Amino acid sequence: MPQSADIAVIGGGIIGMSCAYELARQSSARVVLFDKTMMAGSTSGGSAGVICLHDMGTIYAQLTLLGFERVRQFARQHEIGFQPWGTLDICYEGRAWPPEPTAYTRRFDNGQADSIYAREQLDRPALLERFPWIRPERVLGGVLYTNQGYIDPYKLVDTYERLALETSRVDIQHATPVLQIRQHDNRITSLVTRRGEWQVGQVINAGGPWGAKIAALAGVDLPLTPNRIQVCMATAFDDGLSAAPLTGVPEAVDGEGVWCRGELGGTLLFGQHHNTTQQSSLVDPDYVNRVNDSGYPAAVEAVYSRYWNLPKSVYLNGWCCVYGTTEDGFPIIARDTQLENFYHAVGMNGHGMTCHAGVALATAELVLRGGSVIDLAPITGHDERLDIAPLDAGRFARGELLSFDLR
Ligand SMILES: Cc1cc2nc3c(=O)[nH]c(=O)nc-3n(C[C@H](O)[C@H](O)[C@H](O)COP(=O)(O)OP(=O)(O)OC[C@H]3O[C@@H](n4cnc5c(N)ncnc54)[C@H](O)[C@@H]3O)c2cc1C
Repeated sequence: MPQSADIAVIGGGIIGMSCAYELARQSSARVVLFDKTMMAGSTSGGSAGVICLHDMGTIYAQLTLLGFERVRQFARQHEIGFQPWGTLDICYEGRAWPPEPTAYTRRFDNGQADSIYAREQLDRPALLERFPWIRPERVLGGVLYTNQGYIDPYKLVDTYERLALETSRVDIQHATPVLQIRQHDNRITSLVTRRGEWQVGQVINAGGPWGAKIAALAGVDLPLTPNRIQVCMATAFDDGLSAAPLTGVPEAVDGEGVWCRGELGGTLLFGQHHNTTQQSSLVDPDYVNRVNDSGYPAAVEAVYSRYWNLPKSVYLNGWCCVYGTTEDGFPIIARDTQLENFYHAVGMNGHGMTCHAGVALATAELVLRGGSVIDLAPITGHDERLDIAPLDAGRFARGELLSFDLR
């Protein structure tokens, strides 16, 4: 006798877990979540957990507002390891100083002290005094976004799991891969898992970099590409450094931008980043090398040592992970183009931690009410709405890719 649920979520990373919570919070639906690994065992666990501005077009900026709002709320109510060490935009020669507020700041900053856009302008002496490991050459000053920071991704996913279970409407099945998706007349009827068959009403694909593989189980071709990302670290505690904000340098490592942030314990993390699909780092998430390329820490050191003064620090291997990317860099949050009870919440392109609550709220709106709009006025203080309709999966086939311009 198959088991049953109103809604099934495939994938228990931050996206799947926050979707399960949101669906149970907003409805009386019985939700089951399947994950083939253990809690946050994939991309979410490997994330740097940075909660920062993603001013890359209207939709990202809006998803970020919702994500930041939830992180602030959870940081007050639960233990999610939020460290508000800030994000630092260092201005080097070649840029204007002081920088003008951006169009995003003008549109989305509500002017409150707790806004994600709250910032402090540091002239050159103040910047170098506050962050003495920054080499002074060519530095003009910096802008510190004081409320941004990073969370512990395991604690955040764990919090969502606990809150979802507390609703008594969510069943979470760890170590339970979905192996087959059965369908009839353009509808999914059941999921075959390692622990038996489940009859399901609606199905959400929250498989992160496995999103295309999960879609393929339903015979759907999803334009989502898994990309391998590397993180290395430095023993900055050897130089007495702690609580470093998220920042970066104006030079690429092996042709690619690399962010840097402090970690508890005084280490520094350095990470690659892709905003869109890169063919060069395309991998199968089931067969990925979780260790850095042998030359990566040395390559990061060669660049960063031109900007950071850390004479005693040692640069070491960190880890590798995979995230799901799309050609235009925007997620797919939409009902499937073929199967009427199948939904996708994938393709976060490296921003899933910050944006997760926006994704979960939008997915709940889509699945529970068939809507696509979320009211942001309570956050912005003026009429502002997130509309996820442009994030449909069919845009790639239609050649209607989204752009990072503010619209
Ligand atoms: C190195 C790195 C650093 C990052 N740093 C940041 C950051 O600082 N800030 C930020 O906002 N974002 C960051 N990201 C991006 C962020 O981590 C991701 O966008 C986010 O974790 C994606 O979550 P997810 O739930 O979609 O995917 P995942 O966490 O990968 O979850 C998908 C789940 O699906 C499960 N699954 C797959 N197939 C099946 C199946 N057949 N049956 C059942 N379960 C299945 C997997 O086991 C997995 O647990 C970073 C990513 C990486 C790799």
